[in-house]
Amino acid sequence: YQTKQNQETPSKKTLSFEIFPPKKDSELKNIDKTLSVLCELNPDYISVTFGAGGGANRNRTIELAKRIKQEYHVEPVVHLTCLHYDKAEIDEFARVLTNAGLQNVLALRGDKNPNMREKESFLHASDLIAYMKDKWDFCFLGACYPECHPESEDKVCEIKHLKAKVNAGAEVLLSQLCFDNHAFFRFQEACRIADIQAPVIPGIMPVINAAQIKRMITMCGATFPVRFQKIIQAYESNKEALFDAGMSYALSQIIDLLVSDVEGIHLYTMNNPLVARRICEGIRNII
Ligand code: FAD
Repeated sequence: YQTKQNQETPSKKTLSFEIFPPKKDSELKNIDKTLSVLCELNPDYISVTFGAGGGANRNRTIELAKRIKQEYHVEPVVHLTCLHYDKAEIDEFARVLTNAGLQNVLALRGDKNPNMREKESFLHASDLIAYMKDKWDFCFLGACYPECHPESEDKVCEIKHLKAKVNAGAEVLLSQLCFDNHAFFRFQEACRIADIQAPVIPGIMPVINAAQIKRMITMCGATFPVRFQKIIQAYESNKEALFDAGMSYALSQIIDLLVSDVEGIHLYTMNNPLVARRICEGIRNII
């Protein structure tokens, strides 16, 4: 159901891209080609990941976000983890972002890492949002997990904590990689039942090479539908065919999401401009 006003100005679905900063400062220059293609595709925003290790990683995230804004005039979103930082470090980070005119933060807890000391100032992403919101002026986004975060006790707890994150101030929720639209739709429904009002945006990553598939299977906790597994098995011995198969799986997944009532798509681009361009060409008439 749409109100008359909404019919006249239908709410726009967002398209956003995620990129990661290159590992070395010298490679920052090489990212120009990626950025210029991504920005030409006119996304609503580009989010830049944050290495939980801090230090140089952290600076590269900021540098890249600044370039996206100043040189390409696209809105950046800066990822920020909190588990390994104390309040003074978060304030310093917020100051740097503010001075650079960066206004959007994807507030994250970060993964636990046995080699890094947890500072215990922030145990959850919602703590980070609540703290920063009191002192600083940012728009906050948060992460969500259609198939549950690996540490969650169950789906009920997961949704309860997600609602707390939105109540703390997360205005948009970006999802973990999802290869199964049914899983996403079930999650979306659970969010609605819990009266989570923030847009819940599915995160899609075209799987285009064999190494990436193996990494995904061990890392991200998402399930791989039988259809996906069969496609990958059929094409994995041929690099080009696998690229095409992975792209067409992702594209059909995105089209199905867009013609259903999702509020946008967050594309994990892997810094590959070809991937983003192919997806954008495929959805031009729908989004
Ligand atoms: P939280 O929201 O804090 O949730 C973590 C766990 O704690 C969940 O099981 C949740 O149910 C539970 N929980 C939350 N609140 C409470 C509470 N009050 N009481 C008890 N339990 C609670 N990592 C990086 O290092 N850098 C990145 O750039 C990055 N980008 C990401 C982008 C997206 C879109 C996503 C989905 C993830 C990203 N991550 C990144 C990974 C993320 O840091 C990990 O998944 C991390 O383990 C959880 O972060 P979170 O913000 O979702 O944590």
